[in-house]
Amino acid sequence: MNNEQKELRSMSLEELQQVMVLAGEKPFRAKQVFEWLHKKQVSSIEEMTNLSKKLRTYLKENYTVDTLKVAKELISSIDGTRKYLFKLSDGNIIESVWMNYKHGNSVCISSQVGCRMGCKFCASTLGGLVRNLRPSEMLEQIYRIKEATGQRVDSIVIMGSGEPLDNYDSVVRFLRLITDENGENLSRRAITLSTCGIVPRIYDLAKENLPITLALSLHATTNEERIELMPIARKYSLDEVLEACEYYFKQTGRRISFEYSLVKDVNNSKEHAKRLSELISKTNSHVNLIPVNPVKERSFETVTRKQAEDFQKMLEKNGVNATIRREMGRDISGACGQLRRSFIEKN
Ligand code: SAH
Repeated sequence: MNNEQKELRSMSLEELQQVMVLAGEKPFRAKQVFEWLHKKQVSSIEEMTNLSKKLRTYLKENYTVDTLKVAKELISSIDGTRKYLFKLSDGNIIESVWMNYKHGNSVCISSQVGCRMGCKFCASTLGGLVRNLRPSEMLEQIYRIKEATGQRVDSIVIMGSGEPLDNYDSVVRFLRLITDENGENLSRRAITLSTCGIVPRIYDLAKENLPITLALSLHATTNEERIELMPIARKYSLDEVLEACEYYFKQTGRRISFEYSLVKDVNNSKEHAKRLSELISKTNSHVNLIPVNPVKERSFETVTRKQAEDFQKMLEKNGVNATIRREMGRDISGACGQLRRSFIEKN
């Protein structure tokens, strides 16, 4: 067993049952431990007060429980959005966001420390990939935000730092744990995973029997233009990515959400709107337009509200459903991953 396998919060109920057998305990204890970790969401083994002192000591000596510490909390005075910087047990810092909408509270989580996908407009990838997050570290972003806000979480989006399908096994394990009826019991329909388009993993995810919403970061309408913005496009062509999305929809019945970050004079012309409509018209989908968030290390310019609305209208005229993503917490952020970068630079 390596250290990662000895982390209790990432284990399934069946794996915890094996832990109990090794400890010389009855398997039913596993459910109690699972509930402490995922329903009561405690931070330490010490708090599991219905276990004997002997068992708690044994667990502490042989296993770990990942718990995140809030390193910084910023609250927007415009819309109440909160940004959290969390410190991991090895000192790494990650970023998560809590947003309050009319239809409930949504949390945006990170799936990796840094990222290796290299998208040109994204701040999360500037320092490369540091490491994958464990399932426990993804769960903890949600558990600690619930604790800090005192409110429930109604939906989650895996759209923070990192490429979730580049950390596939841990992300799928996380999805099974967050939807487990003995734990947080979040509805699978309340989960969205955003990917830059790692094609073989989209097919794998479609077969997991986890009908979550898939968001595909498209951002361009030809292979050439997509390669300019997203290096992953060198590996998988637009046709291949769109075919995988089509398959995902057929398998899960979940409408695909296409993300399209609008970059001034790069991808927001009339021709772009026309090509985008043609590309995705046969896929049951919805387009999310995101006026690009300027990153100080890069020279991309964002679009005005009017330019975003014009682009949206052109899509709708061609029969494509599109919304402009509302900008949340404008006063406390910067682009995705920028808060973490500025914190690391200063500390
Ligand atoms: N790796 C995943 C999830 C990360 S980011 C993915 O690629 O989808 C979530 C979304 O924000 C993606 O569509 C990403 O392309 C977009 N994004 C990243 N940086 C951005 C920026 N500066 N402005 C606008 N959108 C950005």
